[in-house]
Amino acid sequence: MDFKQCPLKYRLRTVDRIPEPPARPAVRGTLVHAVLESLYGLPSGERVPDRAAALVEPAWRHLLEDRPEVGSLVPDGTLDEFLGEVHRLVRAYYQLEDPTAFDPESCESMLEVRLADGSPLRGFVDRIDVAPGGALRVVDYKTGRSPGPGGEHRALFQLKFYALMMLRLRDVVPAQLRLLYLSDGQILTYRPDRDELLRFERILSALWAAISSALRTGEFPPVRSWLCEFCEYRGLCPEFGGSPPPYPGPPSQVEDLR
Ligand code: SF4
Repeated sequence: MDFKQCPLKYRLRTVDRIPEPPARPAVRGTLVHAVLESLYGLPSGERVPDRAAALVEPAWRHLLEDRPEVGSLVPDGTLDEFLGEVHRLVRAYYQLEDPTAFDPESCESMLEVRLADGSPLRGFVDRIDVAPGGALRVVDYKTGRSPGPGGEHRALFQLKFYALMMLRLRDVVPAQLRLLYLSDGQILTYRPDRDELLRFERILSALWAAISSALRTGEFPPVRSWLCEFCEYRGLCPEFGGSPPPYPGPPSQVEDLR
């Protein structure tokens, strides 16, 4: 998806591997995901709002131990406010689902698969649910707001990406994929069909061919869009007066299509 949005951004992140500085919304999202993962580690009857709230502070301490640099995003005296934002999102989750009502198959799984033409796919899936009859549901939590008309395409791309990975890994078309937007309580649901996923697979193969060609030539043009506002590489981007470092050449192993 990075390459489709902006080839230069893909290059700086995936080929040059220039780390992005931590951002407060991303860290807030990481915490909410950690809390929900821990919540689903509890017996179903214990997954009540109070238990979820009690998981927020330990999740923050754990994150600080792992990545001390995130502490700089929360200036002295503002921790309560920051954790309050996390608490609000966790409470909002209960408006969308009842976590005491089912047991997921897995949480926070990394999926990897290669398509027949060698295109590598990789993605982290927040939750996979399997109904007693075998129907598969893939769920992704979003701590931002649901997309406006311009952003739906991106969300749908992500959902199809997950659906195709499940099809190729398990030979099953998921019954449902859901994005849960905690900030505004919206749910985006997608029910894929096999033919649509096979068409999407051809799109990904073409995308992988374009990436492979760019890796050979070093041509990764910047593509300006509204998403530049959130891009951490603006300082290195010619569209914003910067210059990227010299192209380091293709890595020995290219990561994946994301
Ligand atoms: S600022 Fe915009 S054009 Fe530049 S690298 Fe980032 S996404 Fe691409």
